[in-house]
Parts: sequence; structure tokens; C-alpha cells
Amino acid sequence: MCGIFGYAGKRSDALEIVFEGLKDLEYRGYDSWGVAVVPENNNGNGRIVVKKKAGKIGRSSIDDLPQGTLALGHTRWATHGGATESNAHPHLDCTGTIALVHNGIFENYESIKKELLKKGHTFTSETDTEVAVHLVEEYAKTMTFHEAVRRTFNKMDGLNAIIVFRVNDHELVVARNGSPLIIGFSKKENFVASDAAALVPHTKIVHFLEDGQMAIIRDNTVSILHAKNGKPIQPIKHKLSWSIAQTEKGKYRYFMLKEINEQPKIVRDIASTLSQAEKLAKVIKKFRNVYLMGCGSASYVSLAGSYLFSQIAKYPINWAIGSEFWHQLKFLTKNDLVIALSQSGETMDTLEPIKEAKIQGAKIIAIVNVLGSTLYREADYKILIGAGPEKSVASTKAVTGKLAHLIALSYAFSGKSKEGKALLMEAAKSSEMVLESKNITRIKLLAKRLKNTRHIYIVGRGLSYPASLETAMKLKEISYIHAEGMAAGELKHGPLALVEKGTPCIVFIPNDELYSANLASAMEMKARGGMIIGVSYKNHDIFDYYLPVVDAREATIIPNIITGQALAYYLTILRGLDPDKPRNLAKSVTVK
Ligand code: GLU
Repeated sequence: MCGIFGYAGKRSDALEIVFEGLKDLEYRGYDSWGVAVVPENNNGNGRIVVKKKAGKIGRSSIDDLPQGTLALGHTRWATHGGATESNAHPHLDCTGTIALVHNGIFENYESIKKELLKKGHTFTSETDTEVAVHLVEEYAKTMTFHEAVRRTFNKMDGLNAIIVFRVNDHELVVARNGSPLIIGFSKKENFVASDAAALVPHTKIVHFLEDGQMAIIRDNTVSILHAKNGKPIQPIKHKLSWSIAQTEKGKYRYFMLKEINEQPKIVRDIASTLSQAEKLAKVIKKFRNVYLMGCGSASYVSLAGSYLFSQIAKYPINWAIGSEFWHQLKFLTKNDLVIALSQSGETMDTLEPIKEAKIQGAKIIAIVNVLGSTLYREADYKILIGAGPEKSVASTKAVTGKLAHLIALSYAFSGKSKEGKALLMEAAKSSEMVLESKNITRIKLLAKRLKNTRHIYIVGRGLSYPASLETAMKLKEISYIHAEGMAAGELKHGPLALVEKGTPCIVFIPNDELYSANLASAMEMKARGGMIIGVSYKNHDIFDYYLPVVDAREATIIPNIITGQALAYYLTILRGLDPDKPRNLAKSVTVK
């Protein structure tokens, strides 16, 4: 979480570059923002200019700030202290000559703050972060600035990333442990950001800072060091494959709408990666137990994966929620395989169990969207989702991308790759039809009817169960309507008590062996007055509202989920909310 962007170069619009970078990164935190610059005509007078504001960057301006060639900025996802202007980053030391931004939680900040207060430091915020800048100030009294930052960083317990600069030093000193930082290399200017996508407009040559690494970034050099002992490290330069167009909204009003519409193409692209699926299917066969694991939507994809492998490959695969797997994995051995799913590859609740699983000797396959991310680097085998940068906080194309890879894998596992490919092509076509204007009109009309509803129930059996969970998740996170996804068979074991006259009930009823059972659940809800919204390949008398989805066998889960995404999106728009930046959330959940 949190957006960080820093620039060291020769251009005097450094602040503009940082500001635009922050806008690109805002999906990582948006309760407040701030920038700091060393003014160009500083002439060694030791002044850092800072601007901070509570709320989203939106249409804010930095026109009132001076030009300068060294700048940094931050968009915050508050952990310590409210989302106020004074708590926003950057934070300054007592002399106003050192500025610092931070991602993560400085776990032992309280005891250090006490010491610093005794030494006469004054604090202006409630954050853990501000303690770090005063500690740098304190150390810098008796040692070089780099050494002071290194010492400070090594004192910080928890998972943290920091960027610091001092007024007359024309360099950014950065360090990471657990929270991502990526360095971008260019001619006579260098960059640092908390997400590679934000660097694409400037450079594609990057180094993914590893845990325990720090760097000194100047306009013409970047030195990378071990934070522990200060020893130099050779950068490992990667070339990003993303294009600028992929990181922009283009003709769409919101990233979420753009990303929803990209899905048919992504599914088609994945269908043509047969050889990758075949190779990994062979790997999976070598292990005794296999676990699929992820957080949020990725946990529902994991659940779907267990259905896919049992239905298509007749092979049992367990699934787990990342934040819970941590408490269960002590039994893992070298005979076990964990398939971890994550869009960003930085999700702390996925990375922590992965690290523990590795200690137990298990091997890891990552299904991940971001090349070079921590999960990508930690894994023994990797599948890049290939969905391109995903900027809407609510995940869409990464979800269906993961599903498409799992479908390809389960078919490859049963020696029927070609069949899997054909099925994915059908799913892509069916998804395209969901997004055709006549279908979108139906979804918009339904959204109108549901605009003021307080609860929505969503049910399905088999693969339609994870589709229900995922649809409920989308509705909750962006439209703020209470939505519950359930296994349809579970209705009568309790939740049916909630259905009354007019309660909206979405039922996934694809053309599978569970058609009649799913329909029966719809009938049970109808009999209690429920308003039945049928998502199916054919209409039925009991539906109060019908959303057509063309059959693509097991892969129908993809267009079904896209239907749920589109409904959530249009409901959110009608309710006057921002689908890209839902309240209280941020993308890339790097805290525990
Ligand atoms: N813990 C810090 C704060 O609350 C950092 C938050 C962030 O990562 O955005 O200010």
C-alpha cells in the first residue's frame, strides 16, 4: 500500500514528474498526499518546500511550488494517525532539512520516539513515520547521511520502505524490507517508485530492490548496497514489457471499465500459452499434496481452481486463504507444492505463508501479474498472468486471468491442452457477448432497480459458488451494498431466513450438471418473495430479471464473473461513487 515516487535528475520540473507519478500510483493509497522539493535557486540556504493535503490528489495543483531537480512524494494509506494534513508524508526533521516518506509500519516507533523526545526532538504528527526522520537527524549529527539512513532503517522493526533526502545533497537514499521499491534507470536522471507501472512513462529499465537492500540515487549514478553492512551490490536490470497505453485510461472514464473490457483479449492470449501450462502440469504431478492459495479475490480463484482440477483432471487440490494458511501450514514438507496467486506479487498475507512454506521445504508456483515482484522472485516456478497493469483497486482482469491459467493448467494436467484452449476461446467469446451494448443495457437497467437496495444475496453451486463469492466481493468493495455470496445448497441451512419480499437474489445457473439444483435454490428463494436475477444460458419463468451468459462449460465461470463485475461497476456509477478508489481500501496490500 501507499504510493511512493522519487526523482533525481537534471530537469527542473522534478516536482511535476513526481506529482504525475503519484497520480499514477494513487490506487495504492489515497487518504492524503504530499510532495517535497529542493528549490532550484536554493543556493545552499537549506530549505525544503513541502505541500501536503488530506484527501485524494484529484484536481489538486502544485503550481504554487518552486522548480527543482530533486523531489519525492507519497500517497498515504494511514496506519498510525488519522488521514489529516499533518499526518500526511513527507515528514521533516526538526531543522526542516531532511524529508522522508515511508510505506509500512515502524513497529517499535514508540520506544524510539520516547528517546528522541528526551533528546529534545519535536513532533508534529501522530505517525510512526515521523520518528524515522528524527532518528536520521539524530544519527546524522555524528556520521555521514547515508550511514544515518542505513542505521535508522536497521533500527526499524516491521516491513518498511523509506525514501529520504537532505537539502544540499542532490540524492535520494532509499531502503526496503518487505514493501516494494523499484528503481528506474535513465540518462542523466533516475527514479524510484513503489510500483513498476508508474515508471513506464520514463523508463523500462528497472532494478527491483530486494529485502534488506538500500540505494543511493543520483542524477547520473545509482549505488545499491546491503542495508545490513553497507557493502555494494550489482544491480540486476530487468526490462519491463508494459507499454504506456497499458498504464493509461485511454477512452474509458475509469480504469475499472477499461480493465473489464480488456478481459476477452487476455483470456484469448492465455489460451495460446499451451506449452507453459503443459510444462507446469508436469511439475504439479511430481508432488504429493498441492495447495492453491491467495487473498481476497485470489482466494476465490483458488477455490475455483480446486473445483477445476477435480472436475477436469479428477485430481484433488486443496485451497486456502493466504492470511489463514499461515496458521495451518506446519505440516508442509518437501513433497508438497503451494500455488500462490496474487495480482501484485506483493500481498503480505500471501508472501508470509510462502516464506514459511519454503522453510518447511515446500516448493512454490507463483501465478502473478507483476514481473519481478516479490512473489515472482520467491517462487520456484512462475506463470505471469499477462493481464498488463491493473490499476483499479477492485481486481477484475487479474481474477479472470488467473482463472484462465488454472483452466489451461487443469486441461494440460489431463493431457487435453487443445480442448482447454478451445474452451478458453469460447469463454473469451462469451465474455465479449456479456460486454456487448445490448447486454450492458440490461445490466444498467438492473443496476437502476438495485440502486437503493441494502442487501443482495448471490448463490451458485460448484464453480458458481466461487463466482458468487467473487460477485459479492465486487459489489461490497465498490458499491458499498451489503452482498453475500453463498453455496446455493447452504441456503436452507440458515441464510434463507433473510430472504423476504423483494430481496434481490442473484443465481448463477450455467448449463452444467447442477442446472436443476441451482434452479431449485432459485425456486426456494422465489417462494419466500425473493426477486430472482437469473444469470444463465437460457431464460426461465421464475426469473424476475434475466442476464444471459452463453455457455462455455467449466470456463463459463469467466463470463459469469464478468457479469458480476459489470453489475457492480454500473451500480457504483449510479450511486455516484468512484469505482477505481473505494473507501478504506488500496491496491497491493503490503501490510499484515
Ligand atoms: N505507517 C505510515 C503511516 O501511517 C505509513 C502509511 C503508508 O504506508 O501509507 O503514516
